[in-house]
Amino acid sequence: MAESHCLFAVSPETGLSVVWLDSTRLCREAQFLHRLGRTSCIALSRQLTSTALVALSQKKPRHMSIQVVCNGKLGQIFCDINEDCHLRGYVKEPKIDLPLANDASPRAQEISPVVGDGKLSVIRSLENGEFNQGTIELESGEIDGDVENFLSRSEQIPSVLRCENFFDGDDTLKRSVGVLFQGLPEKRESLLNEIRQRVHQGELRQLIENSSMFDLEALKQFVPDLKPTHESIPVQWKCRCSYAGVLSALQMLGSVDLAEMIDEKKPATVDCEFCGKSWMVEPSEIERVFLSTIKDAN
Ligand SMILES: [Zn+2]
Repeated sequence: MAESHCLFAVSPETGLSVVWLDSTRLCREAQFLHRLGRTSCIALSRQLTSTALVALSQKKPRHMSIQVVCNGKLGQIFCDINEDCHLRGYVKEPKIDLPLANDASPRAQEISPVVGDGKLSVIRSLENGEFNQGTIELESGEIDGDVENFLSRSEQIPSVLRCENFFDGDDTLKRSVGVLFQGLPEKRESLLNEIRQRVHQGELRQLIENSSMFDLEALKQFVPDLKPTHESIPVQWKCRCSYAGVLSALQMLGSVDLAEMIDEKKPATVDCEFCGKSWMVEPSEIERVFLSTIKDAN
C-alpha cells in the first residue's frame, strides 16, 4: 500500500488553502498494533489524521500533540507527531465495536456516544524550544469537529476539518482520508460555511468513496480553482520508544518504588502505550537506575 502523503493546494481567487491526507496505511498500522475494534479505530484514525493535518498546515512541521480526555467509554485518545512527520497514538479503550451506520449516512459512525463530555488539548512546540498549550471543551464529540472548533476559536483560523473512514467486511480499515480547509482573512467564512454544510451532508464521503485516488481533481468539486502549492510530505506511523527512554521513565518512579522492584529480584516489563512494545529491564539495570536516583538526590 502506498505511503501516506500530505498534499497542499490553494485557491488563487479566494485564498482558501486545503491540506489533505490519505492516512489509510498509517491508520491501518495503528489498527493492527492496537488490535482496534471498529469504533475505537474510527476515533484513533480521526485523531491521528487531524494531528497530521494541523501540524502540516503550518509552514514548518514541529512537534505537536493532541489529547482528548473524556467521560465516555473511549476514556482518552492521545496522538503526537514530530518534526520528521512520524505519527503515533493510542486510545485508552481499544475494543469498542458499535454497529456501522447504513450506507445513506453522512458518516461511517457517530462516535460521540462513546466520547461523551470532556476536553481537547493541543500542545505545540515553539521555535524557541518552549511549549504552547490550548484547551477547549468537547462540543461535537466527533474528534475532527472538535479539532476544527479548536482551530476556529482558540487559534482564530476559520477552518473545516473532516476525516472519513471506510471498512472491509472483516472490519479491517479499508480507507482513511482527512481534509482541512482554511481561510484567511475572515471574509472567507461564508465560503467555509458552505463547504462545511456540504461536507456534513456527506458529499466529501461520497467523493472519496467514488474515487480510487482522492486527489486535487476530486477536491475541485468544493473549490474549483485549486492549484497545488508545494511538494507533498510523507507521513508515517513510527513510535519513538527506546530502551534509554524506558530507563529514564523508571528513574521518574523514585527510590522507594525502585527499591521494591529490586527486592522482587525479577526483570521489570514496561509496555509502550503507543505501540504496545514490551521492554524488559533486568534487575541489575534497575539497581543501576536506583543508585543514580540516590546519587542525584544527595
Ligand atoms: Zn513504542
